[in-house]
Amino acid sequence: MPRRPKTTRPEPADAAAQLLLCHGASALCVYDAQERITRWNARYPEFFPEVAPLLKVGLHFTDTVRPFLRLQHPAAGAQEIEEGVAAALRRHRALEGPVRYQRADGGRWLELRMFPQPDGGRIKIWNDVTAEQQAAADAGDRGMLELLTVAHVGLIVHDAQGRLLYSNARYFSEMFLHVLTALPDVRTRGTHAAFWRQFAEIFGGDPAYEALCGLPGGGRLPRPVTLQARTGHWFRIAEEDWRGGVASVWTDVTDLMQRGQALQAAYGEVMALNAQLRDRAETDSLTGLPNRRHFESALSRAQRAVDEGARHAVAVVDIDRFKSINDRFGHDVGDRVLTEVGRCMRTALRPGDVLARPGGDEFAIVLQDAGLDEAAARARTLCAEVERLSLPGTADQQIRTSVSVGVAALRALGDPAETMREADLAMFEAKKAGRNRVGVAG
Ligand code: GH3
Ligand code: MG
Repeated sequence: MPRRPKTTRPEPADAAAQLLLCHGASALCVYDAQERITRWNARYPEFFPEVAPLLKVGLHFTDTVRPFLRLQHPAAGAQEIEEGVAAALRRHRALEGPVRYQRADGGRWLELRMFPQPDGGRIKIWNDVTAEQQAAADAGDRGMLELLTVAHVGLIVHDAQGRLLYSNARYFSEMFLHVLTALPDVRTRGTHAAFWRQFAEIFGGDPAYEALCGLPGGGRLPRPVTLQARTGHWFRIAEEDWRGGVASVWTDVTDLMQRGQALQAAYGEVMALNAQLRDRAETDSLTGLPNRRHFESALSRAQRAVDEGARHAVAVVDIDRFKSINDRFGHDVGDRVLTEVGRCMRTALRPGDVLARPGGDEFAIVLQDAGLDEAAARARTLCAEVERLSLPGTADQQIRTSVSVGVAALRALGDPAETMREADLAMFEAKKAGRNRVGVAG
């Protein structure tokens, strides 16, 4: 058996590999299982000049991708960059490619393939596919498509057979690379479900997006959709028939949506203020009950209902000898008595009844679903409840009070103001008859 030579000479296959490593057109970088660089070829720093000054054996993958992401996303903040680095590391560990993207500087298109190694390491190879990418668009469209590459719209064009004609991947990579672990494969376009489901990492969870994935069939979207991405940005995706295929145009409409939302919020505030003002204009500030204005519209509504067959009645309530309460205990105590009498009657009435304070020590009521007798009976209950009230006047004196009520029934096609006058007269009759009682009109 021949003895092995002491100094090892490279085998021819190794030598070929060495030559390829040095002179191949592809960039190559080898990582160990801890994602640290072990070797690279000359093309690698040429394709990634931002990494060149740092490059050394043992450099971690994340330290190579951070300067690259800063270059690709000049507007991104530190946190966004770190999120991007984390996502890139996930892709580094899991993806095999091919992945195409365009460098933000110089516009070079790269196609990346990753080869997992048995020891847990990875070999990555980048090819310059700029020429191929440009050739994909036919000569007449190229100028326009190049413009779209730098414009702030996303574009994916498929031909009639569903084959990718063009996509400005720079836009997609800039917008979404930091949230993607699996890049959408847009090389072919089949059914809506198959094509759009691939964008789940971008839009997953947005109901409009889920609906889009559930569309039957394929072809272009029947109408534009506006989706919110997980980055918080809003995109409008509009699709047009284009030479038998589909042109999908993505526009970032975040500003518009935010302005729309701000407008809507402002509109909501104005409406709420309007409602508040209306409430205030129809509310008695002392008792919090509806005022005369509110009562008059409630009265008109009740009259219309009566015209159509309902039975409603009205009541006029006046506090008995209220002046003397003011005189004995002061105006503030008088105010409290007004409020408490109002509260007491509100509690005794039915929810559908309208109790208002038109002014002074007088209240007006629309009694729902009541003929004259029923109205009189409910008014007597009110008198009894108010009579039971006992309110503190001075330290040693309780205030007892009572009300006189006049009731009248609304008549079909009658004049509600006239009915109110009748109730008012009936109330005066109750006063004359000794107070704390109910007078019935008619
Ligand atoms: P009567 O039994 O005949 O109704 O006697 P009265 O003393 O209640 O007489 P009247 O209804 O004419 O008097 C109403 C009084 O209510 C006169 C006014 O000073 C007082 N008043 C009106 N509005 C208010 C108010 O907002 N607060 C207070 N504290 N008093 C008021
Ligand atoms: Mg009174």
